[in-house]
This record gives sequence, structure tokens and C-alpha cells, in this order.
Amino acid sequence: MSILWPCPLAVDAYAACGQAIDPPRPPCPACGAPTQAWHGYWRHLRDVGDRLIWIPRVRCSRCGRTQALLPWFVLPWRWDAVTWIGRALELAAQGLGHRPIAAVLARPETTVRGWLRRLRLGAPELTRRLLAEAVRAGWSGFELPVPPLPRLAAAVRARAAQWLRRHGPADGWWVANLVTGGALLGTNRDAPLAPAGADASMAPTAPEVPDGP
Ligand SMILES: [Zn+2]
Repeated sequence: MSILWPCPLAVDAYAACGQAIDPPRPPCPACGAPTQAWHGYWRHLRDVGDRLIWIPRVRCSRCGRTQALLPWFVLPWRWDAVTWIGRALELAAQGLGHRPIAAVLARPETTVRGWLRRLRLGAPELTRRLLAEAVRAGWSGFELPVPPLPRLAAAVRARAAQWLRRHGPADGWWVANLVTGGALLGTNRDAPLAPAGADASMAPTAPEVPDGP
């Protein structure tokens, strides 16, 4: 599984760093032991344009599992930066269909339709998680819309508002990506960098998005 982290850099600055990115070294999510830097890989990230960014990995000193460290603007397994998926949801919450949204965002209609389908499927659970996190961070609540997509958009804003109070300004969708563990469009798949049963330490430095969106 990949690990999301709250990168202090914007997308441009991150990309400009190339392989000089110096991320935190989180403990192993599987066994809690310390991790150490372990290669990495280049991956595409579509923002305003398409760019290549470096994704560092860490390896557990005890169990040997490797993890990709994704900056919070990257959604695992997706080429498009999470902000664009968030914009699509906000426009859909305002009643726009996938075709006009695709035109506004300059993305293929099929891509936007796929995002919205997955967001609708996951909206109740994502909303529940985001609101629970917002409450834990001190959010006291207000009247939320009932329809699923506007409700999800409101939950993202609620969580982002609490982040702002504690840590300063951040894109609400980056915060949402972080606190949902990269699961906005579905589960962050297990062990994306190695087939099940394989020795993770032998896994090649394959990106988590080998075949595009
Ligand atoms: Zn471990």
C-alpha cells in the first residue's frame, strides 16, 4: 500500500525538486518498525499539464515491506492530481453533468464519468469518514445538504476548515486525500508495488500507475 503524506510543496515546486525530495520516514504500517529510504520511481501527474514526478519509497527494517510515499496531491493509481477530481465533484454537486464538467476541466468525458460513478458509489462512506475526522479535529457541525455529492463536498470543506485552523492553508482535496488514505475513488489497493506473496524487497521500482488512468 502507498502512504500519503502532507507535503509542504505545491505541485510545481515538488516536480522541480526531481529526486531531491526529502519526505518523512513513517513507521511501517504493517509492523510499526522504522523504515529507511528505498529507491523510488518516476510517475506521470496530470495537473494543468502533464509532468513526471519522483515518488520515493521506504523499506521496513524488520519485515522488508516497501511503501511508496505519495504527496497528498497524488491519488494512488490515477494520473490526474486529486484537485481535478475534486473540482469534478464540486461541479457535479452543483448539478452539472459529466459532459460539461469534462469540457470545463479539459478532460475526456469517459474519465470524468468514471470519477463521478466511483464518487457516487463511495460518497456515503467517504462522507462518514471525513465528518468523523472533522469532529475529531474539533469541528462542531452545521446543517449539511442531504444529496450525496453536495454532502460529500460539504464534508471535505468541513475537514479542510479544521486543517486550516491547526496547520494553515491547504487545498481541501489534498486534505481529503490524506485523511481518506487515498481512497476517494475506491480502495487504495494492497501492495500495489508487488504481487501477493512476492518478496516485497525484490519488487521492481514500478509505479502505482503502470497503465495510465
Ligand atoms: Zn514492517
